[in-house]
Amino acid sequence: MEIKGIGIKGIGINADSKRINGRLRRFDEELHIFEKFGFDYVEISPHGVDGIIHGKINAKKIDSIVEIAKKHDLNYTVHAPDMINLKDIFNKRIQYRSLKASIDFAEYIGSDIVVYHCGKYLKQQYGIEEDIECEQRENEIESLKRLADYAQTKNVRLAIENVSQSVRSVIELIKAVNKKNVGMTLDIGHLYLWHKTKALGGNFLDEVDEALNYAIHMHVHDNFGEPVALYGYDIENIDVYKLTLGLGDLHMPIGWGSIPYNKVFELVKKHGYSGVIIEEINSWERYFNALKEIPNNIRRLLSGEKVVVSKVTW
Ligand SMILES: [Zn+2]
Ligand SMILES: [Zn+2]
Repeated sequence: MEIKGIGIKGIGINADSKRINGRLRRFDEELHIFEKFGFDYVEISPHGVDGIIHGKINAKKIDSIVEIAKKHDLNYTVHAPDMINLKDIFNKRIQYRSLKASIDFAEYIGSDIVVYHCGKYLKQQYGIEEDIECEQRENEIESLKRLADYAQTKNVRLAIENVSQSVRSVIELIKAVNKKNVGMTLDIGHLYLWHKTKALGGNFLDEVDEALNYAIHMHVHDNFGEPVALYGYDIENIDVYKLTLGLGDLHMPIGWGSIPYNKVFELVKKHGYSGVIIEEINSWERYFNALKEIPNNIRRLLSGEKVVVSKVTW
């Protein structure tokens, strides 16, 4: 499927795991609204609907999840549980099994994409002295190779997302795994934030340009490119403070922050990107009336026009 005239496969939104939190009635209601607002795709997290239990498909709930998904005129992509980390050599088995179960989940709901967050090194977190980075990197590469082969049997592609990594390190991982069904989820909001946070020099748009060579899936959302790291308070986990100060990974609708999305979309078109574009908005009530503007705003960006951001009504 390709949306006529704009080259991409579809426009989607996330059914955020914290909002759904295992409640299938809520899941059904969100899908109903997204269908009504004209989205083509919804990104589902198996952990949001209790689709996985103890590293396996949850046999007690999967039939209901599939029934709800099929009820709506929507297509789906899958976001594997955010905390899965294949660099975690201390909990190898459950990490691996959980991503494998996410691939099974994708098969159940008819998704050909599974998003995986690029792994994080655990040295600092565990207070470990010796150098185990190499072992962690190798574990992630070897696990992804095996999981890519497994995913291939189900026509599923693994899309590795940049979270707090440079584009270069995600590309290096994709190259090391070297499987044709493994590419990148380019998350523009994360890239903007990471780029500003690390004060790397260079150019944000150059990184977008480079990443688009490997992107098979995209996430878009807005922020102000301001890190939370320098504040003593637990701001990252308190949305109202984050928003007040304009800090961190805000996941706001496009047009609310300072990411130059018109320039980003010039590059999206230049590369002839043909995957799905998911706008990832985690807060429901706060941005509810912005949600219905998303499909048209993405179309506007693809046509070189500016987004329209209405005032919030209640
Ligand atoms: Zn993600
Ligand atoms: Zn994302």
